[in-house]
Amino acid sequence: MIYDVVVVGGGPSGATAAEDLARAGKRVAMLDKAGRIKPCGGAIPPRLIADFAIPDSQLVAKVNTARMISPTGRAVDIPIENGFVGMVDREHFDEYLRQRAAEAGAERVTGTFLRIERGDTTAVAYRDKATGEERYLPTRLIIGADGARSNVARGEVPGGDTIPYVIAYHEIIRSPEASDRYDPLRCDVIYDGTISPDFYGWVFPHGGQASVGMGTGIDGVDLKAATAALRAASGLSECETIRKEGAPIPLKPLDRWDNGRDVVLAGDAAGVVAPSSGEGIYYAMAGGRVAATAAQAALASGKASDLKLARKLFMKEHKMVFKVLRSMQDAYYKSDERRERFVSLCHDIDVQRLTFEAYMNKKLVRARPMAHLRIGVKNVAHLLRLVPATYG
Ligand SMILES: Cc1cc2nc3c(=O)[nH]c(=O)nc-3n(C[C@H](O)[C@H](O)[C@H](O)COP(=O)(O)OP(=O)(O)OC[C@H]3O[C@@H](n4cnc5c(N)ncnc54)[C@H](O)[C@@H]3O)c2cc1C
Repeated sequence: MIYDVVVVGGGPSGATAAEDLARAGKRVAMLDKAGRIKPCGGAIPPRLIADFAIPDSQLVAKVNTARMISPTGRAVDIPIENGFVGMVDREHFDEYLRQRAAEAGAERVTGTFLRIERGDTTAVAYRDKATGEERYLPTRLIIGADGARSNVARGEVPGGDTIPYVIAYHEIIRSPEASDRYDPLRCDVIYDGTISPDFYGWVFPHGGQASVGMGTGIDGVDLKAATAALRAASGLSECETIRKEGAPIPLKPLDRWDNGRDVVLAGDAAGVVAPSSGEGIYYAMAGGRVAATAAQAALASGKASDLKLARKLFMKEHKMVFKVLRSMQDAYYKSDERRERFVSLCHDIDVQRLTFEAYMNKKLVRARPMAHLRIGVKNVAHLLRLVPATYG
Protein backbone atom coordinates (compact mmCIF):
# COMPACT_ATOMS: atom_id res chain seq x y z
CA MET A 1 0.00 0.00 0.00
CA ILE A 2 1.28 3.47 -0.87
CA TYR A 3 0.04 6.40 1.19
CA ASP A 4 -0.89 9.64 -0.49
CA VAL A 5 0.78 11.55 2.33
CA VAL A 6 2.88 10.65 5.37
CA VAL A 7 2.77 13.41 7.97
CA VAL A 8 5.86 13.39 10.21
CA GLY A 9 4.90 14.83 13.60
CA GLY A 10 1.60 14.74 15.45
CA GLY A 11 1.69 18.14 17.17
CA PRO A 12 -0.87 20.86 16.31
CA SER A 13 0.47 21.30 12.75
CA GLY A 14 0.82 17.61 11.87
CA ALA A 15 -2.47 16.55 13.46
CA THR A 16 -4.32 19.33 11.61
CA ALA A 17 -2.73 18.38 8.27
CA ALA A 18 -3.50 14.68 8.83
CA GLU A 19 -7.10 15.38 9.81
CA ASP A 20 -7.74 17.65 6.82
CA LEU A 21 -6.23 15.12 4.40
CA ALA A 22 -8.16 12.21 5.88
CA ARG A 23 -11.41 14.19 5.69
CA ALA A 24 -10.63 14.85 2.01
CA GLY A 25 -10.45 11.07 1.49
CA LYS A 26 -6.66 10.76 1.18
CA ARG A 27 -4.68 7.77 2.47
CA VAL A 28 -2.65 9.37 5.23
CA ALA A 29 -0.33 8.15 7.97
CA MET A 30 0.68 10.37 10.91
CA LEU A 31 4.01 9.39 12.46
CA ASP A 32 4.73 10.71 15.95
CA LYS A 33 7.41 9.63 18.39
CA ALA A 34 5.19 10.26 21.43
CA GLY A 35 6.27 10.18 25.06
CA ARG A 36 7.00 13.87 25.66
CA ILE A 37 4.67 16.69 26.59
CA LYS A 38 5.51 19.69 24.42
CA PRO A 39 6.81 22.51 26.66
CA CYS A 40 4.35 25.35 26.00
CA GLY A 41 2.48 28.17 27.72
CA GLY A 42 -0.68 26.87 26.05
CA ALA A 43 -2.36 30.23 25.30
CA ILE A 44 -4.67 30.12 22.27
CA PRO A 45 -6.74 32.90 20.67
CA PRO A 46 -10.47 32.79 19.80
CA ARG A 47 -9.66 32.60 16.08
CA LEU A 48 -8.00 29.21 16.69
CA ILE A 49 -10.90 27.96 18.79
CA ALA A 50 -13.33 28.92 16.02
CA ASP A 51 -11.30 27.88 12.95
CA PHE A 52 -10.34 24.49 14.36
CA ALA A 53 -13.51 23.75 16.36
CA ILE A 54 -11.82 23.32 19.75
CA PRO A 55 -14.36 22.17 22.33
CA ASP A 56 -14.76 23.97 25.64
CA SER A 57 -13.66 20.80 27.43
CA GLN A 58 -10.06 21.41 26.21
CA LEU A 59 -9.88 24.83 27.89
CA VAL A 60 -8.46 24.71 31.41
CA ALA A 61 -8.88 28.47 31.87
CA LYS A 62 -10.49 31.39 30.05
CA VAL A 63 -8.32 34.43 30.60
CA ASN A 64 -10.00 37.86 30.65
CA THR A 65 -7.05 40.21 31.32
CA ALA A 66 -3.48 40.60 30.11
CA ARG A 67 -1.14 42.44 32.46
CA MET A 68 1.96 44.06 30.95
CA ILE A 69 4.67 44.70 33.55
CA SER A 70 7.53 47.13 32.87
CA PRO A 71 11.15 46.96 34.11
CA THR A 72 10.30 49.44 36.89
CA GLY A 73 7.31 47.33 37.92
CA ARG A 74 4.54 49.46 36.39
CA ALA A 75 1.59 47.25 35.48
CA VAL A 76 -0.88 47.97 32.68
CA ASP A 77 -3.96 45.76 32.71
CA ILE A 78 -5.53 45.19 29.31
CA PRO A 79 -9.06 43.84 29.56
CA ILE A 80 -9.88 41.29 26.89
CA GLU A 81 -13.10 42.64 25.47
CA ASN A 82 -15.67 40.50 23.65
CA GLY A 83 -13.95 37.22 24.33
CA PHE A 84 -11.15 35.48 26.18
CA VAL A 85 -7.78 33.85 25.67
CA GLY A 86 -8.11 30.08 26.05
CA MET A 87 -5.53 28.06 27.95
CA VAL A 88 -4.86 24.44 26.95
CA ASP A 89 -2.69 21.75 28.50
CA ARG A 90 -0.59 20.35 25.68
CA GLU A 91 -0.58 16.89 27.24
CA HIS A 92 -4.31 16.62 26.53
CA PHE A 93 -4.72 19.10 23.67
CA ASP A 94 -2.22 17.39 21.33
CA GLU A 95 -3.62 13.94 22.07
CA TYR A 96 -7.14 15.27 21.40
CA LEU A 97 -6.02 16.57 17.98
CA ARG A 98 -4.26 13.29 17.13
CA GLN A 99 -7.31 11.30 18.16
CA ARG A 100 -9.53 13.53 16.04
CA ALA A 101 -7.24 12.97 13.02
CA ALA A 102 -7.45 9.21 13.61
CA GLU A 103 -11.25 9.33 13.85
CA ALA A 104 -11.28 11.16 10.50
CA GLY A 105 -9.35 8.23 9.00
CA ALA A 106 -5.65 9.00 9.45
CA GLU A 107 -3.54 6.02 10.46
CA ARG A 108 -1.54 6.69 13.62
CA VAL A 109 1.99 5.34 13.67
CA THR A 110 4.14 5.60 16.79
CA GLY A 111 7.85 5.78 16.16
CA THR A 112 10.80 8.02 15.35
CA PHE A 113 11.43 9.45 11.90
CA LEU A 114 14.81 8.31 10.56
CA ARG A 115 15.06 9.42 6.93
CA ILE A 116 13.38 9.57 3.54
CA GLU A 117 14.42 6.85 1.08
CA ARG A 118 13.91 7.29 -2.64
CA GLY A 119 14.03 4.39 -5.05
CA ASP A 120 11.26 3.09 -7.32
CA THR A 121 8.95 4.43 -4.63
CA THR A 122 9.58 7.01 -1.91
CA ALA A 123 9.31 5.84 1.70
CA VAL A 124 9.61 7.32 5.16
CA ALA A 125 11.90 5.14 7.28
CA TYR A 126 11.16 5.15 11.01
CA ARG A 127 12.03 3.28 14.22
CA ASP A 128 8.88 1.60 15.52
CA LYS A 129 8.40 2.47 19.19
CA ALA A 130 6.86 -0.84 20.28
CA THR A 131 9.33 -3.22 18.59
CA GLY A 132 12.42 -1.09 18.04
CA GLU A 133 12.45 -2.29 14.41
CA GLU A 134 13.14 -0.10 11.42
CA ARG A 135 10.06 0.13 9.21
CA TYR A 136 8.91 1.94 6.07
CA LEU A 137 5.89 3.95 5.04
CA PRO A 138 5.77 4.15 1.21
CA THR A 139 4.21 7.42 0.12
CA ARG A 140 3.70 9.93 -2.67
CA LEU A 141 4.20 13.04 -0.52
CA ILE A 142 5.56 13.94 2.93
CA ILE A 143 4.56 16.76 5.26
CA GLY A 144 7.34 17.65 7.71
CA ALA A 145 5.60 18.82 10.89
CA ASP A 146 8.18 17.55 13.36
CA GLY A 147 8.60 20.80 15.25
CA ALA A 148 11.56 23.07 15.97
CA ARG A 149 14.91 21.58 14.90
CA SER A 150 12.96 19.45 12.43
CA ASN A 151 14.91 16.54 10.98
CA VAL A 152 12.74 16.62 7.86
CA ALA A 153 13.52 20.34 7.30
CA ARG A 154 17.22 19.80 8.00
CA GLY A 155 17.50 17.05 5.41
CA GLU A 156 15.20 18.35 2.70
CA VAL A 157 14.71 22.09 2.54
CA PRO A 158 17.36 24.80 2.05
CA GLY A 159 17.88 26.75 5.28
CA GLY A 160 16.09 24.09 7.34
CA ASP A 161 19.25 23.45 9.33
CA THR A 162 19.97 27.10 10.18
CA ILE A 163 16.66 28.49 11.47
CA PRO A 164 17.38 31.01 14.29
CA TYR A 165 15.80 30.24 17.68
CA VAL A 166 15.12 31.65 21.10
CA ILE A 167 15.21 29.06 23.84
CA ALA A 168 12.11 29.21 26.03
CA TYR A 169 12.09 27.64 29.46
CA HIS A 170 9.22 27.31 31.92
CA GLU A 171 8.24 25.68 35.15
CA ILE A 172 4.80 24.19 35.67
CA ILE A 173 3.77 24.98 39.21
CA ARG A 174 0.78 24.26 41.42
CA SER A 175 -1.35 27.44 41.32
CA PRO A 176 -1.57 29.45 44.50
CA GLU A 177 -4.88 30.72 45.84
CA ALA A 178 -6.18 33.77 44.00
CA SER A 179 -4.82 36.95 45.60
CA ASP A 180 -3.96 40.52 44.70
CA ARG A 181 -0.75 39.11 43.14
CA TYR A 182 -2.07 36.00 41.38
CA ASP A 183 -5.27 36.00 39.37
CA PRO A 184 -6.29 32.66 37.78
CA LEU A 185 -7.96 34.60 34.93
CA ARG A 186 -5.02 36.87 34.11
CA CYS A 187 -1.91 36.36 31.95
CA ASP A 188 1.12 38.37 33.11
CA VAL A 189 3.73 39.38 30.55
CA ILE A 190 6.94 40.68 32.10
CA TYR A 191 9.21 42.99 30.12
CA ASP A 192 12.38 43.22 32.19
CA GLY A 193 15.97 42.84 31.00
CA THR A 194 16.98 40.98 34.17
CA ILE A 195 14.35 38.31 33.40
CA SER A 196 14.92 38.27 29.63
CA PRO A 197 17.35 40.59 27.85
CA ASP A 198 15.71 40.09 24.44
CA PHE A 199 12.26 38.49 24.86
CA TYR A 200 9.92 38.42 27.87
CA GLY A 201 8.83 36.47 30.91
CA TRP A 202 5.33 35.20 31.62
CA VAL A 203 2.94 33.80 34.22
CA PHE A 204 0.08 31.97 32.52
CA PRO A 205 -2.69 30.39 34.62
CA HIS A 206 -3.86 26.86 33.79
CA GLY A 207 -6.58 26.07 36.28
CA GLY A 208 -4.89 24.07 39.03
CA GLN A 209 -1.47 24.74 37.51
CA ALA A 210 0.41 27.68 36.03
CA SER A 211 3.25 28.09 33.52
CA VAL A 212 6.00 30.50 34.61
CA GLY A 213 8.85 31.07 32.20
CA MET A 214 10.95 33.19 29.90
CA GLY A 215 12.77 33.04 26.58
CA THR A 216 16.05 34.30 25.19
CA GLY A 217 18.16 33.97 22.08
CA ILE A 218 21.31 35.09 23.92
CA ASP A 219 23.85 32.41 24.80
CA GLY A 220 24.96 32.21 28.39
CA VAL A 221 21.73 33.50 30.00
CA ASP A 222 20.88 31.27 32.98
CA LEU A 223 17.26 30.34 32.18
CA LYS A 224 16.66 28.62 35.51
CA ALA A 225 18.04 31.55 37.52
CA ALA A 226 15.92 34.00 35.48
CA THR A 227 12.81 31.90 36.08
CA ALA A 228 13.60 31.66 39.80
CA ALA A 229 13.88 35.48 39.86
CA LEU A 230 10.57 35.77 38.01
CA ARG A 231 8.89 33.40 40.46
CA ALA A 232 10.28 35.40 43.39
CA ALA A 233 9.13 38.73 41.87
CA SER A 234 5.65 37.26 41.27
CA GLY A 235 5.34 35.74 44.76
CA LEU A 236 5.41 32.19 43.35
CA SER A 237 8.65 30.83 44.85
CA GLU A 238 6.89 28.69 47.43
CA CYS A 239 4.48 26.97 45.01
CA GLU A 240 5.12 23.28 44.32
CA THR A 241 7.08 22.73 41.07
CA ILE A 242 5.51 20.02 38.91
CA ARG A 243 7.74 20.09 35.81
CA LYS A 244 10.75 22.03 34.52
CA GLU A 245 11.31 22.05 30.78
CA GLY A 246 12.55 24.07 27.85
CA ALA A 247 12.46 24.03 24.06
CA PRO A 248 13.43 26.21 21.11
CA ILE A 249 11.00 28.69 19.52
CA PRO A 250 11.89 29.48 15.88
CA LEU A 251 12.31 33.15 15.05
CA LYS A 252 11.90 33.38 11.30
CA PRO A 253 9.82 31.56 8.67
CA LEU A 254 11.92 29.81 6.05
CA ASP A 255 12.00 31.37 2.59
CA ARG A 256 10.96 28.01 1.15
CA TRP A 257 8.75 25.38 2.74
CA ASP A 258 9.00 22.69 0.07
CA ASN A 259 11.83 20.77 -1.59
CA GLY A 260 10.45 21.13 -5.12
CA ARG A 261 9.82 17.40 -5.22
CA ASP A 262 7.75 15.65 -2.56
CA VAL A 263 8.15 17.37 0.84
CA VAL A 264 6.41 20.40 2.34
CA LEU A 265 6.94 21.75 5.88
CA ALA A 266 4.42 23.07 8.41
CA GLY A 267 4.50 24.84 11.78
CA ASP A 268 7.70 25.15 13.84
CA ALA A 269 9.47 22.96 11.26
CA ALA A 270 8.97 25.80 8.74
CA GLY A 271 10.13 28.36 11.34
CA VAL A 272 6.64 29.80 11.70
CA VAL A 273 6.07 31.45 15.09
CA ALA A 274 4.86 35.03 15.51
CA PRO A 275 7.66 37.48 16.35
CA SER A 276 7.24 39.49 19.59
CA SER A 277 4.82 37.04 21.19
CA GLY A 278 6.30 33.63 20.32
CA GLU A 279 2.78 32.49 19.57
CA GLY A 280 2.99 29.29 17.54
CA ILE A 281 -0.01 27.01 18.08
CA TYR A 282 -2.44 28.91 15.86
CA TYR A 283 0.19 29.39 13.16
CA ALA A 284 1.17 25.72 13.35
CA MET A 285 -2.44 24.68 12.78
CA ALA A 286 -2.92 27.23 10.01
CA GLY A 287 0.34 25.93 8.50
CA GLY A 288 -0.85 22.33 8.76
CA ARG A 289 -4.04 23.32 6.96
CA VAL A 290 -2.30 25.05 4.04
CA ALA A 291 0.20 22.17 3.78
CA ALA A 292 -2.75 19.77 3.43
CA THR A 293 -4.30 22.02 0.77
CA ALA A 294 -1.00 22.20 -1.14
CA ALA A 295 -0.53 18.41 -0.89
CA GLN A 296 -4.03 17.82 -2.29
CA ALA A 297 -3.31 20.20 -5.18
CA ALA A 298 -0.01 18.43 -5.94
CA LEU A 299 -1.65 14.99 -5.75
CA ALA A 300 -4.40 16.09 -8.14
CA SER A 301 -2.12 17.81 -10.67
CA GLY A 302 0.95 15.60 -10.31
CA LYS A 303 2.96 18.84 -10.20
CA ALA A 304 5.47 19.25 -7.37
CA SER A 305 5.36 23.01 -7.90
CA ASP A 306 1.88 23.01 -6.33
CA LEU A 307 3.55 22.38 -2.96
CA LYS A 308 4.60 26.04 -3.03
CA LEU A 309 0.95 26.88 -2.48
CA ALA A 310 1.38 26.22 1.26
CA ARG A 311 3.70 29.15 1.92
CA LYS A 312 1.87 31.36 -0.58
CA LEU A 313 -1.54 30.88 1.06
CA PHE A 314 -0.11 31.33 4.55
CA MET A 315 1.82 34.51 3.73
CA LYS A 316 -1.14 36.02 1.90
CA GLU A 317 -3.05 35.97 5.15
CA HIS A 318 -0.38 36.49 7.81
CA LYS A 319 2.57 38.32 6.28
CA MET A 320 1.44 41.77 7.41
CA VAL A 321 0.87 40.77 11.05
CA PHE A 322 4.31 39.05 11.11
CA LYS A 323 5.89 42.19 9.67
CA VAL A 324 4.32 44.49 12.29
CA LEU A 325 5.23 42.12 15.14
CA ARG A 326 8.81 41.78 13.86
CA SER A 327 9.29 45.56 13.78
CA MET A 328 7.77 45.84 17.28
CA GLN A 329 10.25 43.25 18.59
CA ASP A 330 13.18 44.96 16.82
CA ALA A 331 12.19 48.37 18.18
CA TYR A 332 11.18 47.61 21.75
CA TYR A 333 12.91 44.42 23.01
CA LYS A 334 16.39 45.96 23.07
CA SER A 335 16.82 47.73 26.38
CA ASP A 336 14.93 48.39 29.59
CA GLU A 337 14.37 51.97 28.54
CA ARG A 338 12.64 50.74 25.35
CA ARG A 339 10.68 48.13 27.31
CA GLU A 340 9.49 50.85 29.71
CA ARG A 341 8.30 52.84 26.68
CA PHE A 342 6.58 49.79 25.20
CA VAL A 343 4.54 49.25 28.37
CA SER A 344 3.68 52.97 28.31
CA LEU A 345 2.33 52.57 24.77
CA CYS A 346 0.10 49.75 26.07
CA HIS A 347 -1.78 52.38 28.14
CA ASP A 348 -3.27 53.68 24.93
CA ILE A 349 -6.73 52.28 24.37
CA ASP A 350 -6.22 52.21 20.58
CA VAL A 351 -2.93 50.34 20.93
CA GLN A 352 -4.78 47.84 23.14
CA ARG A 353 -7.55 47.41 20.58
CA LEU A 354 -5.14 47.11 17.68
CA THR A 355 -2.79 44.58 19.27
CA PHE A 356 -5.62 42.51 20.70
CA GLU A 357 -7.52 42.44 17.44
CA ALA A 358 -4.31 41.21 15.78
CA TYR A 359 -3.88 38.54 18.46
CA MET A 360 -7.49 37.45 18.93
CA ASN A 361 -8.67 37.46 15.33
CA LYS A 362 -5.39 37.55 13.37
CA LYS A 363 -6.42 40.69 11.55
CA LEU A 364 -5.00 44.19 11.48
CA VAL A 365 -7.94 46.55 11.79
CA ARG A 366 -7.81 49.08 9.01
CA ALA A 367 -10.63 51.33 10.18
CA ARG A 368 -10.10 54.38 12.39
CA PRO A 369 -7.36 56.10 10.40
CA MET A 370 -7.04 58.84 13.04
CA ALA A 371 -6.28 56.23 15.69
CA HIS A 372 -3.56 54.75 13.46
CA LEU A 373 -2.09 58.19 12.97
CA ARG A 374 -2.14 58.93 16.70
CA ILE A 375 -0.49 55.58 17.52
CA GLY A 376 2.10 56.18 14.82
CA VAL A 377 2.94 59.62 16.27
CA LYS A 378 3.16 58.22 19.81
CA ASN A 379 5.35 55.36 18.60
CA VAL A 380 7.76 57.76 16.92
CA ALA A 381 7.72 60.09 19.95
CA HIS A 382 8.80 57.15 22.16
CA LEU A 383 11.43 55.84 19.76
CA LEU A 384 12.94 59.33 19.35
CA ARG A 385 12.72 59.90 23.14
CA LEU A 386 10.62 63.03 22.63
CA VAL A 387 8.47 62.00 25.61
CA PRO A 388 9.42 60.45 28.98
CA ALA A 389 9.58 56.61 29.08
CA THR A 390 6.52 56.55 31.33
CA TYR A 391 4.38 58.72 29.02
CA GLY A 392 1.28 56.68 28.14
C1 LIG B 1 8.20 27.21 26.58
C2 LIG B 1 7.30 27.52 25.40
C3 LIG B 1 6.11 28.21 25.58
C4 LIG B 1 5.25 28.44 24.50
N1 LIG B 1 4.06 29.06 24.74
C5 LIG B 1 3.18 29.22 23.72
C6 LIG B 1 1.87 29.75 23.97
O1 LIG B 1 1.49 30.06 25.09
N2 LIG B 1 1.02 29.88 22.91
C7 LIG B 1 1.39 29.52 21.64
O2 LIG B 1 0.58 29.68 20.71
N3 LIG B 1 2.60 29.00 21.38
C8 LIG B 1 3.50 28.82 22.38
N4 LIG B 1 4.73 28.24 22.14
C9 LIG B 1 5.04 27.80 20.75
C10 LIG B 1 4.29 26.50 20.41
O3 LIG B 1 4.48 25.56 21.44
C11 LIG B 1 4.80 25.90 19.09
O4 LIG B 1 4.88 26.92 18.12
C12 LIG B 1 3.86 24.79 18.58
O5 LIG B 1 3.87 23.69 19.46
C13 LIG B 1 4.28 24.30 17.19
O6 LIG B 1 3.51 23.18 16.80
P1 LIG B 1 4.07 22.11 15.78
O7 LIG B 1 3.00 21.12 15.56
O8 LIG B 1 4.65 22.79 14.60
O9 LIG B 1 5.31 21.45 16.53
P2 LIG B 1 5.32 20.62 17.90
O10 LIG B 1 4.23 21.03 18.78
O11 LIG B 1 6.73 20.69 18.40
O12 LIG B 1 5.00 19.13 17.43
C14 LIG B 1 5.98 18.36 16.75
C15 LIG B 1 5.59 16.91 16.89
O13 LIG B 1 6.55 16.15 16.13
C16 LIG B 1 6.94 15.01 16.85
N5 LIG B 1 8.31 14.69 16.44
C17 LIG B 1 9.41 15.47 16.55
N6 LIG B 1 10.48 14.83 16.04
C18 LIG B 1 10.04 13.62 15.60
C19 LIG B 1 10.66 12.50 14.98
N7 LIG B 1 11.99 12.51 14.70
N8 LIG B 1 9.91 11.43 14.70
C20 LIG B 1 8.58 11.41 14.96
N9 LIG B 1 7.93 12.45 15.54
C21 LIG B 1 8.64 13.54 15.84
C22 LIG B 1 6.85 15.41 18.33
O14 LIG B 1 6.60 14.26 19.12
C23 LIG B 1 5.67 16.39 18.32
O15 LIG B 1 4.46 15.75 18.65
C24 LIG B 1 5.62 28.00 23.20
C25 LIG B 1 6.82 27.32 23.01
C26 LIG B 1 7.66 27.07 24.09
C27 LIG B 1 8.93 26.30 23.85
